[in-house]
Amino acid sequence: MTDTPDSDIQRMVSIIVVGARGRMGTTLIREVMDSDDLSLGAVVDRSGGPGIGQDAGRLIGRPDIGVRVTDELKPRRGCVVVDFSLATATDNNLRQCLEHGVPLVLGTTGLSEETELAIFDAAEQIPIVHAANFSVGVTLLQRLAALASRALGSSWDAEIVELHHRYKKDSPSGTALRLGAAVAEASGRRFSEVVVTDRSTLNQPRVAQEIGVYGMRGGDSIGEHTLMFCGEGERIELIHRARDRAIFARGALRAARWIADKKPGYYDMNDVLGLGEFLLDEVVEQ
Ligand code: NAD
Repeated sequence: MTDTPDSDIQRMVSIIVVGARGRMGTTLIREVMDSDDLSLGAVVDRSGGPGIGQDAGRLIGRPDIGVRVTDELKPRRGCVVVDFSLATATDNNLRQCLEHGVPLVLGTTGLSEETELAIFDAAEQIPIVHAANFSVGVTLLQRLAALASRALGSSWDAEIVELHHRYKKDSPSGTALRLGAAVAEASGRRFSEVVVTDRSTLNQPRVAQEIGVYGMRGGDSIGEHTLMFCGEGERIELIHRARDRAIFARGALRAARWIADKKPGYYDMNDVLGLGEFLLDEVVEQ
């Protein structure tokens, strides 16, 4: 424990990890165990899967901690559920959180439209932080992209390049597309009308207003995104490089600490970082 004045002592937040045996789940367990202000309330994985009943410490190669992997999510008041599992599990996890009035940090991707709507409905009764990318750096990059785009306008050519490991199937990445959408929106463009992901068939010079978004695949890169604003005689580049998957877990746990005492509502990482409309308002006011 760090030396903290009494007035600054934060209460412990108890975390329930759903998807415990997965890449994110095990990283979350490690990060919770290594933190001063979080405790592991429960760890949950899929029914019928391997490792149910195994100790969570053992699961990540450490001594037993007395918390066993269960196949049933039973949220308790005072806990925060952190769910990085499978899209087909989200509806049930949402129901359980609703039933017990427990906040949810949801990182699972690939959700159906119905589930997305159910999340909005549920957020009227419980606090939910939902983000497709929990990295603090990427959240800030999105905001900086919007800020730059609003200030520069569409006369500066915006191009986005991303690099991910060789196994990633979708291209360009969801994060790159969201970055492009932020650039478009901040300068009054409709992203779907200006996005270009492949120039090889166009055979024409770049059209003003376009936003290029391209994916590269190779090696074991966890994710790199470069946004370029190319002007006349100058260029601005904003770059985010992820070196460790733990950034998503750390962002999600930052969200869990933040949401523990929040009112019901639908929140994203901008809310968690206290960004709100910060930066954008100031540009508009100029
Ligand atoms: P993974 O396949 O390594 O792990 C998923 C885990 O969920 C597995 O252990 C699986 O057994 C478990 N699971 C499946 N069904 C379940 C159920 N019904 N109840 C409980 N557990 C269940 O996947 P991963 O890389 O850890 O990613 C998990 C999810 O998180 C994916 O949707 C991924 O896209 C997403 N993700 C989001 C972010 C973000 O920042 N939002 C970052 C990384 C990954």
